[in-house]
Amino acid sequence: MTRPEMLRRLHSRQSEWDIIVVGGGATGVGVAIDAASRGYDTLLLEGSDFGKGTSSRSTKLVHGGVRYLEQGNVSLVMEALRERGILRRNAPHLVSDLAFVVPNYDWWEAPFYGLGLKVYNLLSGKYGFGSSKILSREETLQHLPTINQNGLRGGVIYYDGQFDDARLLINMVSTAAEQGATLLNYVSVTGLTKDKDGFLNGVLARDSERGEEFTATAKVVVNATGPFTDALRKLAGPSIKPMISPSQGIHLVFDRSFLPGNSAIMIPHTSDGRVLFAIPWHGHTLVGTTDTPISEPTLDPSPMESEIEFILNTAGEYLHKAPTRSDVLSVFTGIRPLVKATGSGNTAALSRDHTVHIDESGLLNITGGKWTTYRHMAEDCVNHAATLGKLPDRQCSTKELSIHGSLEQSKQFGHLSVYGADAPAIQDLMRSHPELAQPLSEALPYVAAEVIWATRHEMARTIDDVLARRTRALFLNSKAASKAAPKVATLMARELNQDSTWQSNQLAAFEQIASHFRIASIAR
Ligand SMILES: Cc1cc2nc3c(=O)[nH]c(=O)nc-3n(C[C@H](O)[C@H](O)[C@H](O)COP(=O)(O)OP(=O)(O)OC[C@H]3O[C@@H](n4cnc5c(N)ncnc54)[C@H](O)[C@@H]3O)c2cc1C
Repeated sequence: MTRPEMLRRLHSRQSEWDIIVVGGGATGVGVAIDAASRGYDTLLLEGSDFGKGTSSRSTKLVHGGVRYLEQGNVSLVMEALRERGILRRNAPHLVSDLAFVVPNYDWWEAPFYGLGLKVYNLLSGKYGFGSSKILSREETLQHLPTINQNGLRGGVIYYDGQFDDARLLINMVSTAAEQGATLLNYVSVTGLTKDKDGFLNGVLARDSERGEEFTATAKVVVNATGPFTDALRKLAGPSIKPMISPSQGIHLVFDRSFLPGNSAIMIPHTSDGRVLFAIPWHGHTLVGTTDTPISEPTLDPSPMESEIEFILNTAGEYLHKAPTRSDVLSVFTGIRPLVKATGSGNTAALSRDHTVHIDESGLLNITGGKWTTYRHMAEDCVNHAATLGKLPDRQCSTKELSIHGSLEQSKQFGHLSVYGADAPAIQDLMRSHPELAQPLSEALPYVAAEVIWATRHEMARTIDDVLARRTRALFLNSKAASKAAPKVATLMARELNQDSTWQSNQLAAFEQIASHFRIASIAR
């Protein structure tokens, strides 16, 4: 999977594509996998890097959503639980089981959550991850040694899935490419073209690396731009009625000492009525999230001061040692592409189901939903695309399709386990060039060989691509990521045949992005 190869596929195409997908997040790449594996000629264009949007900024849970059960949305929970099981089977190197404990401080909580989580278990049927159970106070403390013990009565344990969102996305891009799709990052769709009857027949696009513009025609254009859905729809007709209510959520990242065990904490009701998670992830502790309506989505969103305070205060209520601002190693912000419901001002109450909507122009929009259900969303979208574009009728086969790198026993590779079946090739690089076994930073496990791998095989084009989404350095420790950036620039420049001006431009651009991951940079 290299950019020159993808450009070659693009430029050698003489006829129209069956499907052009705009947007390279979980939704768009999921659609590209589904369409290509049915044998449809598929082009995907991503304006920035794959996963630059919401899809690298999730809570990292492959879950049914306990909260949706409480809201009575049984069908959504069942669908997500089924998809959770399918995803663990198809990408076992990236999806694993995680124990969650709901700590109980009131007498009614054990029976209430105990029963609710039993139902959650039952709904997963053959895709179950492990039975829920009521825990004594002592058992709760064994799982959560740092939980606030004041008034603690016990807890309820249940199991859900956890993953590395951006790594899964990068492996999904490889999967789509292996199925025959052409996928390009750093190509924005800047216009939509129409036939003489006013029906959409293609896109105008700009390759921001090469400064080139080109058009591509297709039987169907799929809009999978997540929070940016309405902006793309406006290119087809400015009078469209907006369908997205963007809402942002943040996570704070701390070191492992705040949650030293292997279990996560789930707080079902915070003061804003939401669920809050504290999760062990890549040797760190991740706490989130919030749900704050915003007016306009941006590609590098920043946390709000009120969100930071809310998470610090809530975590402080439940953890024995309350975290402070100076404990925050990184903060990341994602924007939910929630589908508008008329008459509701509260984004937490908006639908988490996905929506497939065809505009008058013929633009096929797929949005909403969640990471966990991307495969099912893609199946639904491509079924609609086949009807809309009068494509030959072909069945979806992604339920049984392994994701690139799929490997059951990848834990043996330590921090390289996220590469699954690719890990031995990275180890070979480290053996044949011992200097590539050097860590990029003292605070993080990543090594130089991963930079080479990402640049050669995973279409990484910028320092941000490597430090935010091929490795997760920026998400885990923004200062350590900044310190590693010059090394990454040198290694990438050599691979990409770039000069020192490229390196200094890259470093300046990365620092700008990294500032959104630090709370010190936020005006009080
Ligand atoms: C805080 C938070 C926590 C979450 N946690 C979870 C979780 O734990 N589990 C779960 O299942 N779900 C979770 N979700 C939901 C999940 O992350 C999203 O539903 C999913 O990532 C949306 O993916 P997407 O592809 O639709 O959007 P995105 O990932 O935002 O992708 C859209 C892409 O379109 C590109 N784009 C935009 N305009 C153009 C253009 N003109 N040309 C080309 N490209 C363009 C953007 O650059 C972007 O990369 C969470 C969401 C948030 C916000």
